[in-house]
Amino acid sequence: MTNVHELQFLKDQIQQLKDDGVYRKLPVLNGPDDTIIELNGKKVINLSSNNYLGLANHPRLKDAAKAAIDKYGVGAGAVRTIIGNMEIHEELEKLLAEFKREEAAFIYQSGFNCNAGTIQAITGKGDLIISDELNHASIIDGTRLSKADRAIFKHSDMDSLEAVLKEKRADAKNVLIITDGVFSMDGDIAKLPEIVELAEKYEAMTYVDDAHGSGVLGESGRGTVDHFNLHGRVDFSIGTLSKAIGVVGGYVAGSNTMYEWLNHRARPVLFSTTMMPAAAAACMESIRMLMESTELTDKLWDNAKYFKQELGKLGFNTGHSETPITPVIIGEEAKSMEFSRKLLDNGVFTSAIVFPTVPRGTGRVRCMVTAAHTKDQLDEAVAAFKKTGEEMGLI
Ligand SMILES: *Cc1c(COP(=O)(O)O)cnc(C)c1O
Repeated sequence: MTNVHELQFLKDQIQQLKDDGVYRKLPVLNGPDDTIIELNGKKVINLSSNNYLGLANHPRLKDAAKAAIDKYGVGAGAVRTIIGNMEIHEELEKLLAEFKREEAAFIYQSGFNCNAGTIQAITGKGDLIISDELNHASIIDGTRLSKADRAIFKHSDMDSLEAVLKEKRADAKNVLIITDGVFSMDGDIAKLPEIVELAEKYEAMTYVDDAHGSGVLGESGRGTVDHFNLHGRVDFSIGTLSKAIGVVGGYVAGSNTMYEWLNHRARPVLFSTTMMPAAAAACMESIRMLMESTELTDKLWDNAKYFKQELGKLGFNTGHSETPITPVIIGEEAKSMEFSRKLLDNGVFTSAIVFPTVPRGTGRVRCMVTAAHTKDQLDEAVAAFKKTGEEMGLI
């Protein structure tokens, strides 16, 4: 008899990862997230972070965080509903509401928590949640926490969405349609105008998770809703503060009624301590910078277009991205991981993304160009892709 505490059942599965060539160790960063990073002691070009605007290590954000530490300390001390609700948290919410052009915004400790907390708070027994099949894991988990029924529609397929609405709308109390604003693995944008039209036709609510649209799409990074000019027609607009905004946290923007309700029923806010006041201060500085000018978002798009064009010229398959997310699709899982390892030897860090994060056989390295990359760095990265692609016979 094996002893269950030896966790043999996990050891077997770990061995399987090794046999499949997808076992990995976590990379260790020896300093801030920047365009050049020191990774396991070696300097390389970073094409893998979600730090789209280069704000994660920006002096203005760092100064704001330091000042907030002096004023508020490091910890919020309690959950928000007890005594962890500091004025700086409410100031951040007001600024986010203004930035997003919505009545209100409600913050969470992370984007993941925002989905885990919001979806279950706004849906219940007898309701129906309809979700795009490629929605983010935190939406899937958030949906599982709800007592509502669930249905899936084919990725960005409006006929499939309408078929679900036709079949199931009449039997449900409220219906909530959930989509990513920007799909993180392929970089395509949700068909939000069509989704909103269907939602209006069938009297459903809409919920957009704009983690990869925040700070990227729309005027100065106001997001997908702004990009399509759908203000007032999307009920729940989720953003993260951990990606382009450069810090950590998440929020949902919408109506005052939504805000009042989440204040009473959002479980990650009721049962987990509020975000660090310094994080709130840094987020506010970041949003202020975006409201001052479009310089950062303009630079991000210029860099992304340039990089995609150069990789395309070399003959790489960069998929059908419409955003700065640039997948380079290799195919086989183990080969994708090998490509990523070899690129690192050639001075560029891009993480390999394989099954189960993306479908089997569509393994890739995902490149995240930022506003902070210089033209020289991008040219160097393209040269490394060329060298690695030739070494492996891919181009
Ligand atoms: C990254 C991401 C999240 C999680 O955001 P965090 O702030 O990192 O927790 C949620 N939804 C989507 C679509 C994401 O891409």
